[in-house]
Amino acid sequence: MIGPFPLGGLLRAARRVEYLPSLVHPISGKVLTRRMALAARKSGVEFSDDVVVRFEQSKNGFLLSGQRLSVHARAVILATGTVPVEPCSGLSHIHSDCRTLPNKISGASVVVTGGGDIAFDTALTARDRGAFVTIYVRTAVLKANAPLISEAKSRGIKVCLGSAVTISETSSTDSFSLFVTTGPKTKRLRADYLIRCHGRLPNDELWKMISRNHPISCGVRTPIAGLYAAGDLIRNNRYVATALSDGLQAASMADNFIKRGR
Ligand SMILES: Cc1cc2nc3c(=O)[nH]c(=O)nc-3n(C[C@H](O)[C@H](O)[C@H](O)COP(=O)(O)OP(=O)(O)OC[C@H]3O[C@@H](n4cnc5c(N)ncnc54)[C@H](O)[C@@H]3O)c2cc1C
Repeated sequence: MIGPFPLGGLLRAARRVEYLPSLVHPISGKVLTRRMALAARKSGVEFSDDVVVRFEQSKNGFLLSGQRLSVHARAVILATGTVPVEPCSGLSHIHSDCRTLPNKISGASVVVTGGGDIAFDTALTARDRGAFVTIYVRTAVLKANAPLISEAKSRGIKVCLGSAVTISETSSTDSFSLFVTTGPKTKRLRADYLIRCHGRLPNDELWKMISRNHPISCGVRTPIAGLYAAGDLIRNNRYVATALSDGLQAASMADNFIKRGR
C-alpha cells in the first residue's frame, strides 16, 4: 500500500464515526485508522510512505513511480480519495479540514464555512480544542444531520444562515481578511482560523495519467484490465462503509485477476 504517512487519509479528520457494523460505540477516525492499520499489518500488508507521481502501464502490468521508489504491480487499486473544491492557498490559518489545524487553539476564534456534516463535525473538533466557533452557511437550509446540528448548538457553536463569507488574502504576510455578507449588509469578520468545508472533488490525477482523460467510472471495475477503483474517488455518497466495501470488492477482483494470470 503506497500513500503518505500518517496513514488514514481523510478519515483522520473525522471526529466521530458511527453506524459501522462491529462498532458498538462511536470512535474517532484516528482510532479507527489505527485499528484498520493493525488488522492490515497482521494480514501481511506492507506500507510505503510515499506519493505516486507517475503511473503508467507496463508490459506485464503497471509501473508506479513515487518520490522515493518505483513499484511494478500486476494489478492496482486506486483509492486516492478527494481534494477540496477550494484548495488551501498555503496560508497557515486557512484549512480544509482539521487534520492541519493546530491542537492548541484554546481561546482562538474559528470560522467554519459550509453547512454539511463535514462542516459541523469539523466545527465540533475545533470546539473540542477550546476554540470559539461560528459556522457560516450560504444557504438558508442546513444539509447536516439533525443530531450533529443539535450537538453543535448545545456546545455553544454559533450557526449563521444565509451568510456568505469572502476572503481577501495577502500571501506575503500570511494574513487574510474576512468579510461576511448577510442580505444587503457586508461586514468585516475577525477570526484566527478559517476552515472551508465546501465540498470535495474526486482526486483523479493518477487515473487521468493512464486513462487519457476519460472520466473516472463510477464502479470498482475500470475498463483497464487489472486496474480497480475504490472509495470516495468513485462515489458521490462518501462514507467509510462504502470505501471499505469497495476496497473488499476491488481486492477480491484483483486477486482473481492475478490468479487467472491475465
Ligand atoms: C470531517 C469529516 C468527518 C467524516 N465523518 C465520517 C463519518 O462519521 N462516517 C463516515 O462513514 N465517513 C465520514 N467521513 C468521510 C470519510 O472520511 C471518507 O469517506 C473516507 O475517508 C474515504 O476513504 P478513501 O480511502 O476513499 O479516501 P481518503 O480517506 O481521502 O484517502 C485517500 C488516500 O489516498 C492518498 N493519495 C492520494 N493521492 C495519492 C498519490 N498520488 N499517491 C499516494 N497516495 C495518494 C491520500 O493521501 C489519502 O491517504 C468524514 C470526512 C470528514 C472530512
